[in-house]
Amino acid sequence: MTEPTESEDYKGYRDPMRGVMQRFGVTVWSEIHARTTRGDFEGLVLPRSETADADHLILKLVSGYNIGIRHDTVLEMRKVGYRKAEYKIPEEPFPVDPGKPRVMLFGTGGTIASRLDYRTGAVIPAFSPGELYGSVPELADICNLETEKLFGVFSENMGAPQYLVLAEHVGKAIADGYDGVVIGHGTDTMHHTAAALSFMVQNSPIPIVMVGSQRSSDRPSSDAARNLIAATWAAAKGPIAEVVVCMFGPTSDRYNLLHRGTRVRKMHSSYRSTFRTLGDIPLAMVHEDGSIEHLHENYQPRRDDRDAKVQIAFEDKVTILYYYPNMQPDVIDALVQCGYKGIVIAGTGLGHVNKTVYPALRRARDAGVQIYMTLQTLWGFVQMHVYETGREILDLGVIPLANMTPEVGYIKLGWALGLHPNDPERVRELMTATVAGEMTEGEPFDGYLVLQGGVPEAAELIRKVWW
Ligand code: ASP
Repeated sequence: MTEPTESEDYKGYRDPMRGVMQRFGVTVWSEIHARTTRGDFEGLVLPRSETADADHLILKLVSGYNIGIRHDTVLEMRKVGYRKAEYKIPEEPFPVDPGKPRVMLFGTGGTIASRLDYRTGAVIPAFSPGELYGSVPELADICNLETEKLFGVFSENMGAPQYLVLAEHVGKAIADGYDGVVIGHGTDTMHHTAAALSFMVQNSPIPIVMVGSQRSSDRPSSDAARNLIAATWAAAKGPIAEVVVCMFGPTSDRYNLLHRGTRVRKMHSSYRSTFRTLGDIPLAMVHEDGSIEHLHENYQPRRDDRDAKVQIAFEDKVTILYYYPNMQPDVIDALVQCGYKGIVIAGTGLGHVNKTVYPALRRARDAGVQIYMTLQTLWGFVQMHVYETGREILDLGVIPLANMTPEVGYIKLGWALGLHPNDPERVRELMTATVAGEMTEGEPFDGYLVLQGGVPEAAELIRKVWW
């Protein structure tokens, strides 16, 4: 194996690609014209991570997208210039206007907080107000922004310790008189954190708006600035005083949607319009000029008091058990042996699992484990009186959770068990009562369709015809 190069000129590149670069006099940050067996390309040579493969050169095309060129496809590379990228975000003092609302932005990490360092893959945060103003000056037209970076993690690393810190800071921002809170967060688990905050900070008098981006701000199709601007409007001036997620509505840059924190879920790995409200319609649209168009008449309005109910706790020994055919009882026995106190099943259809696991469910129940049922279908209600299976599972002490999503059921059970570790009855009461819109009376006939599809034109048509 060739030793990784020490030289800045070939940062991260090893043979065989490094040899090809040397042969044509090309270094990192060279602007090149490359002729390859797979076509001609023009762009900027980017540094690589030391752990990346040795076969490819990474070229940032003029379009802003990156491609890999394999060493054995290169016919010729011609250096036509040199342009070293600067990562530093220009910092300018955020203008203060006493007539504008005060908004606190908490950073937790994720793509929204990042411009990628191509060499290390590390995140370069843009979180001081000056840096944000430098990159998104429109924010100063909306509010006086203050910022605090709580974490700098991708959202798979958010968990109970982070939820507790975040909820505490949100509670404090409410008490300190801010007009709204924005939370920058990775999109992958944003719906878990939105649920955690919905339970931990109830009855908020101000909007608590979570925002992320699917594409980092160095990419031409980035949704970072647009989402941040829309989220800041919703927090500064919006009338909805709930935990909401503010992300792209349709696939194009037309409006953002506000989704209730306990009904929202990331539904696409790469679309910018990835968040959808499940079992309901979104709460509102945020237009480009900051105006808010209500879609849902049922929401908690903004208030002047500071009477939020902050209850911060989380029990770690809770899990989602995603049922699959042929599940064996030992999976459930193992959870009991490991000290799990709560299980949220994501069952099939109306809320089912196979008969094979019944004895293990009975053993878990007898050991004091709380077991709840949610649905893999994500839309619709648990209905355990329809089939014999459902009735049998109910008899085993499994409690249905209406149309709560599995993720929200998991977060709620962690929170409820954390609050009342020695009061199982109180936990059951909390789990089966709606505290933050996590269960609804019914699902609207158009909820599945309105403003929810990948094709905005179809949603628009349905909206025009029905409304
Ligand atoms: N993996 C990233 C995260 O969830 C994706 C994103 O930020 O959108 O942190």
